[in-house]
Amino acid sequence: MDLKVGVIGTGAIGIEHIKRINEKVQGAYVTAVSDINVEQAQRLANQIDAVFFETGEELIASPDVAIVVVTSWDPTHEKYVLEAIKHGKYVFCEKPLATDSAGCKRIVDAEVKAGKKLVQVGFMRRYDRGYIELKEAIETKKFGEPLMLHCAHRNPTADENYLTPMAIINTGIHEIDALRWLLQEDYVSAQMILPKQTSFTHEKLHDPQMLILETVSGIHIDLEIFVNCQFGYDIKCDVVCETGEIGLEDPAYTHVKAKGKNYTKIAPDWQTRFVEAYDYEFELWVRSIQTGNLTGPTAWDGYAAAVTMDACGKARDTGERTLIQLPECPALYK
Ligand code: NAD
Repeated sequence: MDLKVGVIGTGAIGIEHIKRINEKVQGAYVTAVSDINVEQAQRLANQIDAVFFETGEELIASPDVAIVVVTSWDPTHEKYVLEAIKHGKYVFCEKPLATDSAGCKRIVDAEVKAGKKLVQVGFMRRYDRGYIELKEAIETKKFGEPLMLHCAHRNPTADENYLTPMAIINTGIHEIDALRWLLQEDYVSAQMILPKQTSFTHEKLHDPQMLILETVSGIHIDLEIFVNCQFGYDIKCDVVCETGEIGLEDPAYTHVKAKGKNYTKIAPDWQTRFVEAYDYEFELWVRSIQTGNLTGPTAWDGYAAAVTMDACGKARDTGERTLIQLPECPALYK
């Protein structure tokens, strides 16, 4: 039987996920929505033949909702995820799981107490074909041990509301999770470098920024975060191993030969670059719930990313290499 989905937060990505669930994913459809923007959410509910709920809590409690998607603003994630756990309902929460590591830990503790994995975090890089191939090469040791990773996360432009800490909290967080998953290793330290700035930034945003992460076995990662690069949405991940290097290609389905040039396009935004990853992420989420075995990024992964994120903030403020320490991983996540 198809799963009834309730979506909390019907903004940009909420609408995309609703379309994805209703039009692409097998085995689920959206029956309920909720948003503090009542007029817009009510209109959307009418369009897709779903019920509108005044509050996320009412939506979660509804017998017409079997599983929950949280796509509201970051500071609201924690309370909705905790509420879903309280009702024993599977919940997909867009990143970040909570705004800091303490909030993520409260979710981990609630889930451990419930004794069942119910939470999946929206770290969709894990569903990208390129990252999946990188992971296979690393796991099979095709080119020996990985030693260093050179990565970049570039956006064409960022507006006045995008501030210095968001380079990690909103942007670098994707790499923080994806690289830990690729290498199957936790981080031990973070260091932040604030290089010469682009003239395209504003007073409250240091752009670009560099993050250096070190893993338990000593692998070093350098990540450039440059959100006003002007030329497109550009993701790089080159893994240097003992006998070879493997890196992400820019996905392109066509190339152009004209006026003496031969080129492919760069994706303009994350929606275009990762559309297939988002689709696959939801397809597998629904399938894993149907089989009763969640396989995606867990609340523990959300917590580990948040601990790293907190360390990056400290490293930026102090200019020092900051140690990262996770407590013992609960058995539920092993
Ligand atoms: P948005 O501002 O377009 O939409 C957020 C919606 O949440 C708005 O409609 C707002 O009215 C609603 N909202 C706020 N507080 C609420 C509450 N208490 N209850 C119910 N609804 C509430 O933002 P967005 O770009 O759609 O981002 C939403 C979330 O998705 C953010 O947490 C963001 O970090 C995450 N996100 C993840 C990715 C990814 O690549 N995985 C990409 C984009 C956004």
